[in-house]
Amino acid sequence: MLSAIMEDYLKAIYYLQNEADDRVRTSVLAEYMDVEQPTVTSMMKKLSERDFVLYEPYKGVELTDTGVPIALEIIRHHRLLERYLTDHLEYDWAEVHDEADRLEHHISSKFADRIAEQLGQPAVDPHGDPIPTANLDVSGAKDGERLADHQVGDSVQIVRVPDTDPDLLRYLSKHGILPGTVVDVVEIAPFGMVTLDPDSGDGPVALPEEVACSISTQSLTQSSH
Ligand SMILES: [Zn+2]
Repeated sequence: MLSAIMEDYLKAIYYLQNEADDRVRTSVLAEYMDVEQPTVTSMMKKLSERDFVLYEPYKGVELTDTGVPIALEIIRHHRLLERYLTDHLEYDWAEVHDEADRLEHHISSKFADRIAEQLGQPAVDPHGDPIPTANLDVSGAKDGERLADHQVGDSVQIVRVPDTDPDLLRYLSKHGILPGTVVDVVEIAPFGMVTLDPDSGDGPVALPEEVACSISTQSLTQSSH
């Protein structure tokens, strides 16, 4: 059995190595986990002794073929729990992430399969993140384009939003910006602020560049720029 903290490290390495498409530096991992580097180093030694990660000092860390499925299983638990909490227990989508972070370590894969069955095998969680299948397959997931990369006049569909900041999630839902929502890009300020007009008719909403970079989208129509 792995401890919850070990599982959290494997999940973090999975996210970070996908993001960077490379080995993860221990300094990056330390920042992500909000701990000091020596803490990360000693954890990497433990995880590599058990063959969950490949770790070489100064060269960073990556998951082994044993580590990847464990990370994916925990991610599957997390995203199914988020879906279940919002769809059946009336949680707000801004509060499910923390709850799922706690619960994900304590349910079995059988329990996760039952949730998936109950929910009709959902493909994505409430934030648009793809849910790994029971075989831990994520090949169907699309990356999409960053909202920040569109041009004025583009009509785009929101695919995924970051799930960890409750304030941001409350703000987005208040302004009708959810996965599936269609928005028009009406203005991009020289300093990066992106103004959107959601189809829901809630009126224009301006998002800072950092937020626009973290939202994933799909193009519907493109202006002739
Ligand atoms: Zn989450």
